[in-house]
Amino acid sequence: MYSWIIRFIVNSVYEKDDYRKVRFVGRQKEVNESFAIDLVAEEPVTETSDRVVSCDGGGGALGHPKVYINLDKETKVGTCGYCGLRFKQIHH
Ligand SMILES: [Zn+2]
Repeated sequence: MYSWIIRFIVNSVYEKDDYRKVRFVGRQKEVNESFAIDLVAEEPVTETSDRVVSCDGGGGALGHPKVYINLDKETKVGTCGYCGLRFKQIHH
C-alpha cells in the first residue's frame, strides 16, 4: 500500500507538469521511477496456496479497485498492477 502511494504521487506530478517531461527529456523522471521500483522490490512476497489471489491495496481510502491475480503460471510470482504487491503460490 505504501509503495502504491509513492507511485501515485510520482505519476501525478509528471502527468500534470508536461513541460518537465520535455525539459528534462525523462532524466529526472527516470530517477524517480527507479526510486519507486526499489520501494516495490522491498515489499515482501505474500505466500498463498490459492491459484488466484485478490488485491485491493489494503482497502479503505488508500486502497485501489479490487483485482484478481492468476498465479497458475510459470512466472510463479504475480504482481499487483496497482500497488506492486507480489504474490507467490506455495504448493503443499
Ligand atoms: Zn494491489
